[in-house]
Amino acid sequence: MRKYAPLRRPPRISVLVRPVILRSKNFLENNDMKMEYVISTWNVPSLPIVGSDARFPVRRIFCVGRNYVEHQKEMGGDGREQPFFFAKSAHDLVPEGGPVHYPPMTTNFHWETELVAVIGTGGYKISSNKADDHIWGYAVGLDMTRRDLQQVGKDKGRPWTFGKDFDQSAPVGPISPASTIGHPKRGRLWLKVNGEFRQNSDIDQMIWSVPEQIAFLTQYYTLEAGDLVMTGTPAGVGPAKPGDELLAGIDGLGELRVQILPPR
Ligand code: MN
Repeated sequence: MRKYAPLRRPPRISVLVRPVILRSKNFLENNDMKMEYVISTWNVPSLPIVGSDARFPVRRIFCVGRNYVEHQKEMGGDGREQPFFFAKSAHDLVPEGGPVHYPPMTTNFHWETELVAVIGTGGYKISSNKADDHIWGYAVGLDMTRRDLQQVGKDKGRPWTFGKDFDQSAPVGPISPASTIGHPKRGRLWLKVNGEFRQNSDIDQMIWSVPEQIAFLTQYYTLEAGDLVMTGTPAGVGPAKPGDELLAGIDGLGELRVQILPPR
């Protein structure tokens, strides 16, 4: 006979789990979660804004390839092919330009001056006639490129990451808000290297317009507020070397200055 009542299985500790309500404002993250991280976090990459002390937080950087006829020719392309994109990390940004070290593992470090469209309102499957409504502003950018490593990618059918997405590969100037300047459809885009013009075109020479690029991109991605789109470069790309000073500009958007330093 048992002295005690048989041990009953201890009752399961029931933890009342309240369903987490994801009140996220956007598709990609839940701003309501309070996280404790095991390493210290970093500052959100950001860009200054013309006429404001506030900054614009940057999420992702999409870049279109071969989007000006003369550049497409110099890169060996022909005709109006479908646009294609690659990406850079937001951590590649060099806000407002400044010193940029000549990067490692390349002997052919190229400049590409570009109009940067800044997404202020995200969207999926945005139609090109609505795309301007999603753009918060514009800036001058440089899609700095390790051309030799990009070429390896092309030759071997490998990603362009090493050629395009590396430290300091995305100098971008301050953002001019569309609420102030509107949505520029034309305007001279130029680059001087050590005072001499090396790129000199107009943003109306794009093969795919900015709205068309956004329409195309959002068939594949949900664009989010904070995303940047680098909209392609005209002809005249070429190799920078330590000691060079690059001065890029687009009418109405100011200038972006970069000094190339020796390798680290
Ligand atoms: Mn480019």
